[in-house]
Amino acid sequence: MSHEGIRIVHRENLPVEQVQLPIEARTPAKVRVKKTEGTGVEIDWKDGHESRWNFAWLRNACPCATCHEEREKTGRAPGKPKPKPQTLLAMYEAPPRPIDVTPVGNYAVRFKWNDGHESGIYSWEYLRRICECNRCASERRE
Ligand SMILES: [Zn+2]
Ligand SMILES: [Zn+2]
Repeated sequence: MSHEGIRIVHRENLPVEQVQLPIEARTPAKVRVKKTEGTGVEIDWKDGHESRWNFAWLRNACPCATCHEEREKTGRAPGKPKPKPQTLLAMYEAPPRPIDVTPVGNYAVRFKWNDGHESGIYSWEYLRRICECNRCASERRE
């Protein structure tokens, strides 16, 4: 018999990021990385939720320490693009897309981006937390 169901967890005082998501909410049932199409990533979760992100968004949500710090400093939410410098003439920048996508254990995925950056390890849990569907996005804004 499992005791999972009766475990008492004191969640009230924890900041939102530290409350663990239920296992079904952070376990992908299906992951589709549209590398060839260059569009983005689609994940169907075990709890029936579906998440979609485009590659530019994911690149701007890179969870590595450097990107995370840079976002914290400028108050940029994960996935939001960097403000473009006003003074420079628009320089052509190739839209972000991964050159390589590798699974990390069974808990994460790692992208090697076309700009050379590859230190971000996107855990399933992180991806679920940054789900961009209307419901999750509006819940986060509240
Ligand atoms: Zn990064
Ligand atoms: Zn969602």
